[in-house]
Amino acid sequence: MPGWATGERQATEDDDLSYAARLLAWFDAGHRDLPWRRTRDPYRIWVSEIMLQQTRAAAAIPYYEEFLRRFPTVEALAGAPEAEVLAAWSGLGYYSRARNLRAGAALVVERGGFPSDLEAIRALPGIGPYTAAAVASIAFGLPHAVLDGNVIRVISRVSNDPGDIRAPATRKRFQAAADEWLHRVRPGAFNQAMMELGATVCLPRAPLCLVCPVNSTCEARMAGTQNQLPVKLGKVKPEAVESRVVIVRRGQWIFLRQRDADARRMAGFWELPGLEDIPALIDTSVVGNFQHTIVNQCYSVTVYRGAMPRGSAPAGGKWMKPELFTDVPITTVTRKALELLRKR
Ligand code: SF4
Repeated sequence: MPGWATGERQATEDDDLSYAARLLAWFDAGHRDLPWRRTRDPYRIWVSEIMLQQTRAAAAIPYYEEFLRRFPTVEALAGAPEAEVLAAWSGLGYYSRARNLRAGAALVVERGGFPSDLEAIRALPGIGPYTAAAVASIAFGLPHAVLDGNVIRVISRVSNDPGDIRAPATRKRFQAAADEWLHRVRPGAFNQAMMELGATVCLPRAPLCLVCPVNSTCEARMAGTQNQLPVKLGKVKPEAVESRVVIVRRGQWIFLRQRDADARRMAGFWELPGLEDIPALIDTSVVGNFQHTIVNQCYSVTVYRGAMPRGSAPAGGKWMKPELFTDVPITTVTRKALELLRKR
């Protein structure tokens, strides 16, 4: 087994073959049937990889299918208005990903096709080392290893490496191990098999070592340390933030305001106003409360309902019908707040 970071066992060529062969045989025998695994179209793989950066596979499937129904080709995405792309992304969060996808699609169209080498793929907006390696290996069969959370967990355990996975030196060592272990003939399948192993067998809390296809070469299992790995030190606790939003209705219409075009997050999105944004507010009452985490901030959102006299609506707002919400970008907090009201 190549890439052992610790342990006394010497690597042999047989280990190379057996690890890759067993992993791929296991993957070929029955992996999850995910829609992006039925294609080698770089555009579709790119969309899926960007969605999967912050979203679990099962949750991403309906968004992926709807996104490709709306924008079936890179040309369709490049030519779509930004508001329509953001609306299709609503619910997935981290909207800069959608903006980057659209900007990247415009570049691909302008240059006459999808780039087919790692550096050129990496140069597209919003594409980091992981996504570039995934697209390069899966769509183009290029020998680049991916390193995502699942792969990191597998490598830390198979090599019984107690390094802090937040430390750059550990990441570098794990990337070197992944590059070395990579199957040269089927790099895309090998990368997907590593990720699949982490997602379905080498689970964070209770790894299924008994049914694991690589258990005979797993150093952590032999040492009994699999539940202590990977090591992640200094996790940042999310900052608690209080927020109050208000739902003002007039018949079927709901009053929303648009976020500034240069807002740091969700620029141009429509959202419920804050309680303090409507000075003329009357008849307020509490609907409920929910938690919403964005990056390192945990919002405790209290939802109010209220009314405002005619002619007192603040500037920058608009009355909208909920049917319109599939065509304009709406913040997730607003969707959650309206859902809370609907359940009451
Ligand atoms: S044997 Fe256990 S710890 Fe090792 S890779 Fe397999 S599931 Fe993970």
